Amino acid sequence: PKIIVALDGYSSCGKSTTAKRVAAKLHYAFVDTGAMYRAVALYFHRNHIDLSNKEAVAEALRQIDITFEFNQQRQASDTILNGENVEVEIRKMYISEMVSQVAAITIVRRAMVAQQQQMGKKKGIVMDGRDVGTVVFPDAEVKIFMTAQPHIRAQRRKLELLQKGEDLPLEDIIENLRMRDEIDSNREEGPLKRADDAIDLDTSFRSMDEQVDFVLAQVER
Ligand code: C5P
Repeated sequence: PKIIVALDGYSSCGKSTTAKRVAAKLHYAFVDTGAMYRAVALYFHRNHIDLSNKEAVAEALRQIDITFEFNQQRQASDTILNGENVEVEIRKMYISEMVSQVAAITIVRRAMVAQQQQMGKKKGIVMDGRDVGTVVFPDAEVKIFMTAQPHIRAQRRKLELLQKGEDLPLEDIIENLRMRDEIDSNREEGPLKRADDAIDLDTSFRSMDEQVDFVLAQVER
C-alpha cells in the first residue's frame, strides 16, 4: 500500500534532493513545501506586502496560486506561481533572507498546510519541510528528521548557489542558515521540531546515495 513519507529538518541538510530521489524510486509524488513558502515570499516581495498588516497578507494569500510542474529534463518539479515558473527565482538569496519571516505568519502557514494536506489525500507522497511530520501529516507512516553539522550544510549550500550563479561569502550563508533555523524553531505556529516518532538521519558524513537508501529502508520496513 502507498504511504506518506515526511522528511523534516534544518535548512540545507539535503531534504529536497533526498525526497526527490526517494519519490522517483518509489514512483511517488514529491512535494517541496519550502518552495511553497518561497513562492509566497516572492509574491509578497513583488507586491510590497507589509508583513505586519494582517488584512494585506490575507488579501495577498487569496491572489496566490501555487502548483508544481514536472520538469522532464531535470527530473524534478518546478514551482509555478500564478502561472509563472518561479523555480529559479525562489532559490535566490534575497528570498532566503525573507522567507522565514513570511513562513512565521500564522495565516500563511494555515493556507499552505491546508493545500499540503489536500495534496496528501492521494497517498504515495514524499513531502519535505519543517512541520510535515508534526503538523501536516502527524499520522505519516514514515517520518525522518534530518540534521547535519552547520559548516557542512553551509558548504553544500554555497556550492548549490554557485551552480546557480550566485557567489556568496561562506559567512553570509552560515548566517542565513543560522537565522532561518532560529526563526523556524521559535515561531508559534508549526515550529521546526522533531516529531516524537521520527527517525533521526544525520547527513554530515553520508553520501546522497546512502541517505536515499536509508529512507528507502525505512519505507520497506
Ligand atoms: O526548505 P527550504 O529551506 O527551501 O525552506 C525555506 C523556508 O521555508 C524555511 O527556512 C522555513 O522558513 C520555511 N518552511 C517552513 N515550513 C516548511 C517548509 C519550509 O516554514 N514546511
